[in-house]
Amino acid sequence: MFESVRGRSVIVTGASKGIGRGIALCFGAAGCKVMVVSRNADEARGVVDEISAAGGTAASFSGDVTRRDDMQAMVDATLEAFGAVHVLCANAGVFPAAKLESMSEADFDKVVDTNLKGTFLSVQACLKPMQAQKFGRLILTSSITGPITGYPGWTHYGASKAGQLGFMRTAAIEVARFGITVNAIMPGNIATEGLSDMGPEYLRRMEAAIPMRRLGTVAEIGHAAVFLASDEAAYITGQGLVIDGGQTLPETALDGPEG
Ligand code: NAP
Repeated sequence: MFESVRGRSVIVTGASKGIGRGIALCFGAAGCKVMVVSRNADEARGVVDEISAAGGTAASFSGDVTRRDDMQAMVDATLEAFGAVHVLCANAGVFPAAKLESMSEADFDKVVDTNLKGTFLSVQACLKPMQAQKFGRLILTSSITGPITGYPGWTHYGASKAGQLGFMRTAAIEVARFGITVNAIMPGNIATEGLSDMGPEYLRRMEAAIPMRRLGTVAEIGHAAVFLASDEAAYITGQGLVIDGGQTLPETALDGPEG
């Protein structure tokens, strides 16, 4: 599937677990060289081992997407390990809940710094090599929450995820002449370590609200990322791809036999 990605050098931020791990495993299986990035070095190395055990090529980098120096060092390490940076999956994100009336500036800054500023810093660090080689694929992990829906406790999160789409649209125009595309994946509720921290009641309510009656898998996000990185997706830029099992479709709560 999408053979054109074979051999490409791919950075995935937030790849030590959850959706990022799923994206990294899919690129590894597709024959790419994968740089697995997270703050926790041991967990990132664990994903490298998984990719290697499956016959793929991977390395890890310990870095924080909120730090410009770390993002530059991440790109330098990837150039040294793999000789190029063809694809960036800007996926690292956090989603702690805080109600608006009691949200602190620190709560707001943490979420926006990681999810939105982290997108900016990781994308910007990749631009130079991508522009020089006249090829690049920038794939952001946004969400349905913010761009399409709201959820109590996530004003900061929704703002950061909608902000990624605003960032994407202008970035896509600016980099198009270099053969670089910028797109976003907008997941619904995907079974990850981070989401399970929301607790069983949250997960039950989400499953009941999804027409397919199940959470998505990290591989279902990873396959879409591989497609967006492929030559087959060369003319797609500045777009958001919703992957949510139909969660954003119903006009009412799902309670009937057809629902
Ligand atoms: P997760 O299971 O909590 O994993 C988050 C990953 O991001 C980890 O690898 C974590 O590793 C890394 N990370 C967090 N802060 C970082 C930082 N400052 N610098 C570098 N890495 C950092 O989360 P997830 O559910 O997979 O979510 C991943 C992305 O998908 C997020 O952007 C999230 O908003 C989005 N998303 C998730 C869902 C869902 O249902 N799960 C739905 C829509 C959108 P370290 O802590 O070691 O750094």
